[in-house]
Amino acid sequence: MPRPIINHEKLGNHDEIIAICPANVFEKENGKIVVKRPEDCIGCRACEANAPEGAVKVVDD
Ligand code: SF4
Repeated sequence: MPRPIINHEKLGNHDEIIAICPANVFEKENGKIVVKRPEDCIGCRACEANAPEGAVKVVDD
């Protein structure tokens, strides 16, 4: 199953990945972007492509 892993140091406040994700996987909690619904990820990698280099990695396990 695909799921995104966030590197918070690199992602910072790039909130745009929340809206970019077609499966609504991300959410902001206490000022931090979190992977809220990893089970909904469809592996499209839009988050990875739209975040700074290395900030989001989609793994498949
Ligand atoms: S790979 Fe696609 S569906 Fe999965 S979290 Fe990233 S943008 Fe959302």
